[in-house]
Amino acid sequence: MAYDYDLFVIGAGSGGVRASRLAAMTGAKVLVAEEHRVGGTCVIRGCVPKKFMVYASEYAKSFETARGYGWTVPEATFDWPRFLMAKDNEIARLSGIYVRNLQNAGAELVHGKARLVDAHTVEVEGRGRVTADKILVATGGRPWMPADLPGVEHAITSNEAFHLEQLPKRVVIVGGGYIALEFACIFNGLGVDTTVVHRGPNVLRGFDDDIRSHVAEELEAAGVKVRLGTQIGRIEKTATGLVAHCVDGHATEADVIMFAVGRVPYTDDLGLEAAGVALTETGAVKVDAYSRSSVDNIWAVGDVTDRINLTPVAIREGAAFAQTVFYDNPTTFDHDMVASAVFTQPQVGSVGMSEADARHKHGKVDVYLSKFRPMKETFYGGHQRALIKLVVEQGTEKILGCHVVGPDAGEIIQMAAIALKMGVTKPQWDSTCAVHPTLAEELVTMREKYTPPALGAVA
Ligand code: NDP
Repeated sequence: MAYDYDLFVIGAGSGGVRASRLAAMTGAKVLVAEEHRVGGTCVIRGCVPKKFMVYASEYAKSFETARGYGWTVPEATFDWPRFLMAKDNEIARLSGIYVRNLQNAGAELVHGKARLVDAHTVEVEGRGRVTADKILVATGGRPWMPADLPGVEHAITSNEAFHLEQLPKRVVIVGGGYIALEFACIFNGLGVDTTVVHRGPNVLRGFDDDIRSHVAEELEAAGVKVRLGTQIGRIEKTATGLVAHCVDGHATEADVIMFAVGRVPYTDDLGLEAAGVALTETGAVKVDAYSRSSVDNIWAVGDVTDRINLTPVAIREGAAFAQTVFYDNPTTFDHDMVASAVFTQPQVGSVGMSEADARHKHGKVDVYLSKFRPMKETFYGGHQRALIKLVVEQGTEKILGCHVVGPDAGEIIQMAAIALKMGVTKPQWDSTCAVHPTLAEELVTMREKYTPPALGAVA
């Protein structure tokens, strides 16, 4: 049977765009539908604008540091509307590049919501029905909020945080994951009175425990109030703002209350059931190692599959799909040893297993840990501390995990990830000569095994 298109892609985010371009470059007829702006979460309301906000917020500390280094710094002021305009201009430019890249590869773009009618037919708002031989679902994820929480309609998610008309004076952020902590540092850096409310005993679940404690301590030292082990029970709107009433009886007044309590796969109202596509318990599209769904001609990549929800992973999954389906080159993406960074201040960079996971999976492990004030801090009396940690399997000496908290940890961990992905051992790692004077040199100069002080607390 002849179809209108060889490939129909739903969603022009990181995964969808990469897959569409690679497929179209083979001469395949590709149509991409996007209901919002081209670029997806990463470019439009995620990684990229977030990083600009991180850069903006870091200047506060830079001004303070500069004084310690002999500069006379006049009182600095921050213009939120001016920053937002510059940020939005840059996002528009980047989105335009995504559009051009699609066009240059020969893919066609349509703006509108797409819904599957059956396994080969898609209804696109403003375009009508089109048929396609193959379909790729790359719709990403979206933030969620507890809908039954009284007063939740007064709260926002990260989507809205990028477009606040005014910089709030006080903010409460709910959650202890990537987004909550990154935004807490952004707001804190911009001078906003910031409180994090997190239900768990510590922030950043899933990361190494020493990293988690260190990050929480550093956030507090930087001025963020971190309230652990509690939840918001209701939100009250008053004449002067909003009040976050916690279940432990504590109440915090704020101008903005932001929920960052996770994201869910965006599979609502896509017609996936009509096409027979099976979903997981979390509502993600169920896929095999080649990103193929339960329906033979339908694939899915990126956050909508809820594997590892990171932009570079979506891009690699999209590329592997295109290789498999359009280049006759069956390719899977290896989800092992994927590094990630949390752009807190200081940053976190992490690859491989936490100490707890390594002990659970590999039994005996050695730990190397160093906690120190980087030389840039000591010079002017700054208090920010770095922490680096290696987790090594006893016997094989293989490095199972590498974790860094400190300036440029995101950059450092990218390089460390190459070695860990290659299966580096501690002797090989140590044979690498240090680059001096850097923070990263500590990674290759840790010789003493670490024994935690009593009760596992880090001194
Ligand atoms: P995370 O999964 O990182 O964190 C969600 C947080 O919300 C956790 O602290 C979780 O607590 C808490 N939570 C979940 N449900 C509830 C609830 N019902 N009530 C109260 N708290 C709750 O999600 P994010 O939204 O921060 O980010 C989503 C994903 O996006 C990340 O996992 C990451 O993959 C990606 N991302 C990556 C970034 C980067 O690479 N720098 C930046 C931003 C996002 P608990 O731990 O107790 O479950």
